[in-house]
Amino acid sequence: MPEGDTVHRTARRLHRALSGHSLTATDFRVPQLATSDLTGARVVETVARGKHLLTRFAGEEERTLHTHLKREGSWRVYARGERWKRPAHQARVVLATSTHQAVGFSLGIVELIPTSQESDVVGHLGPDLLGPDWDEDEALRRLREDPTRPLAEALLDQTRLAGIGNMYSAELCFVSGLNPRTPIAEVPDLARLVRLAKQMLEQNVTRATQATTGNLREPFWVYRREKAPCRRCGTSIEVAMRGEPGRERASYWCPRCQA
Ligand SMILES: [Zn+2]
Repeated sequence: MPEGDTVHRTARRLHRALSGHSLTATDFRVPQLATSDLTGARVVETVARGKHLLTRFAGEEERTLHTHLKREGSWRVYARGERWKRPAHQARVVLATSTHQAVGFSLGIVELIPTSQESDVVGHLGPDLLGPDWDEDEALRRLREDPTRPLAEALLDQTRLAGIGNMYSAELCFVSGLNPRTPIAEVPDLARLVRLAKQMLEQNVTRATQATTGNLREPFWVYRREKAPCRRCGTSIEVAMRGEPGRERASYWCPRCQA
């Protein structure tokens, strides 16, 4: 599952390649949009809202392509005529201009909506850690609404604050010295933790490889490091599946540093 910084980076890439250009061809390879055609529409911009991507078009009517990468999705930008680096059968959307092709592969959500109705699809989100309208107080208020909720789970809830995925959730708990199951009410300095989250995402939004340790060769403290020695104390990192049935996520922690 991509983290918010990956989605914001994707938005910037699409924005640079497409905005201001008219579409010379479009191909929607999802049943509900099979007959849609945006040829001739001008791309206004692409923005990220949490982990959602909104690509806006001007034309006879203002429309927005709403996409979400979910687990396996990605948007790639190719020069016109360049060979795609993912299999064509995974393509869900193709937006072509006279110079570029943007291809959305294995996207979790693909829908075309009137731009005026964007709030229907992203209105539920909490403040976006990387958004221009970030609001720390509002994010803290939303997090504290459920004081008994385990920290790692609350951080993943995009209606509290938007942008944190499984990796950042695990890393933030470690860096704060807190067990992922710590109830929100028992987090000593939630504001500091949220500021740290923003910092981590901001540091990674401009670079191709994510790291929270400051070391690209050993990028993570605990994420996907089960059974490996803790970088701080040498204890084996543990992993457990947690969360609501059907939506479990792997939780990683050092039983000593995060007792
Ligand atoms: Zn440790």
